[in-house]
Amino acid sequence: MGALHQGHRQLIASAQACGNGKEPAAVLVSAFVNPLQFGPDEDFESYPRDIDADCLIAETSGAAAIWAPSVEQVFPAGAASHFRLQVPRKHQEHLCGAVRPGHFDGVATVVARLLALVLPDALVLGEKDWQQLVILRQLVDDLGLKVRLHGVPTVRESDGLACSSRNRYLTNKQRQQAVALPRLLNRAARDVMDGGSVDLPRMQLEWEQLGLAVEYLEVVDPSRLQPVKVEQKLCLLAAALRVGETRLIDHVFLMTRQPIVAIDGPAGAGKSTVTRAFAQRLGLLYLDTGAMYRAVTWLAQQQAVDSDDALALEAMLENFQLELDPSQSGSQRVRVNGHDVTDAIRSPDVTAGVSAIAAHACVRQALTAQQQQMGRRGGLVAEGRDIGTAVFPDAELKVFLTASSAERARRRAVDLEQRGFPVPDLLELESQIQERDRLDSTREVAPLLQADDATELITDGMVIEEVIEALIALFRMQVPEEVWPTPAC
Ligand code: C5P
Repeated sequence: MGALHQGHRQLIASAQACGNGKEPAAVLVSAFVNPLQFGPDEDFESYPRDIDADCLIAETSGAAAIWAPSVEQVFPAGAASHFRLQVPRKHQEHLCGAVRPGHFDGVATVVARLLALVLPDALVLGEKDWQQLVILRQLVDDLGLKVRLHGVPTVRESDGLACSSRNRYLTNKQRQQAVALPRLLNRAARDVMDGGSVDLPRMQLEWEQLGLAVEYLEVVDPSRLQPVKVEQKLCLLAAALRVGETRLIDHVFLMTRQPIVAIDGPAGAGKSTVTRAFAQRLGLLYLDTGAMYRAVTWLAQQQAVDSDDALALEAMLENFQLELDPSQSGSQRVRVNGHDVTDAIRSPDVTAGVSAIAAHACVRQALTAQQQQMGRRGGLVAEGRDIGTAVFPDAELKVFLTASSAERARRRAVDLEQRGFPVPDLLELESQIQERDRLDSTREVAPLLQADDATELITDGMVIEEVIEALIALFRMQVPEEVWPTPAC
């Protein structure tokens, strides 16, 4: 909305980085004070407007152009007789949506209009307005708009106050009061990181004693924007305060470990390929848990242990040393009792025997414990069959990746060929895959199952890059750049 500041400079720099890797993207800055997003008693008339200063900031930050349309250009028929978009209620029930009725409908309407007029490749928004970011992500998704959305971490002034056009309303004294907003939020984040809890009434009281009026102070799930208890999972602690007439918002993310992503799904859905690439793009550790069940199967076959004999398997596990190096480079070497079995565990024999072995409670117990140990500090994506349900039920993002069995058979055939194994005909492969799915989903302990809070992603007709992009978009719905920045390529 203009009145540009350091935060906007950062948006422009991030937008330039959305280029093709060879040259920076051409960045268009929009500066438009949108009447639709202000309530009748809000500061539409007095909102700071300084187009000359905006032009200077845009230019010196590297933008190609600045566009400051009039209300008539954006809404030629007049704002009142223009189509309005309606944001789903669930996204407006809390935080700013609850105290600014109609605000996000106005934001969604104008952003859809600006996107239609400009047709950009990418839309870059600050994470400071996190609720707005979540709503606009859903808008882009629901309307099928062909634009990539990028969030940029909040930029702060040297005293910790989040950059905002409204900061210029503050007197010196108010400014000193206002820094208590980020200060108390940060203290809460540190307390949670140290294993403590958040005392919302106490925070509210402290602010009030400093002369700040609390409009809301809430803990919500970052993507659903519904209240949650502070627990293991990443959550958003957000507040809006008034300092005199000026309304300020800010937030922190509460967490006790780095984020975890769980990707489950049936055999041959292409989980490994896309999960490995996704891990690499986001700098997460990659854990292929299927490889662990395959490693146990390999050893059982080497030692001729009957896959139905639970006691013999249990005895075998006493001398089973599994070393994995979940690496960021994407490859995962697997060693059993010192032998490198990375390639051997992919053989058709191991594939045919693994589901029977994986059904045993003793096997699951041993491997689940090892997986949980590896994920203790987070910063990892694990794929398998029971990651979202049994191994990491508190993962920030859960995806159930699947495809039709015919499509999965085709992919498996390509995989076998690339690995130099004989390729059975497609119908035979499809029935092998279906049998493995049947065994995996009907076993008693931790069967293959879509977690209630998982997003299903059906990948028929999608190329690998599209699946990776879809996973990244889902991740960014839940985990901000501020918490887990995308590594520079
Ligand atoms: O993913 P992949 O095909 O390598 O998995 C091999 C087998 O390992 C699966 O069919 C399943 O029986 C077992 N598995 C499991 N739980 C996991 C991962 C794999 O039971 N988390």
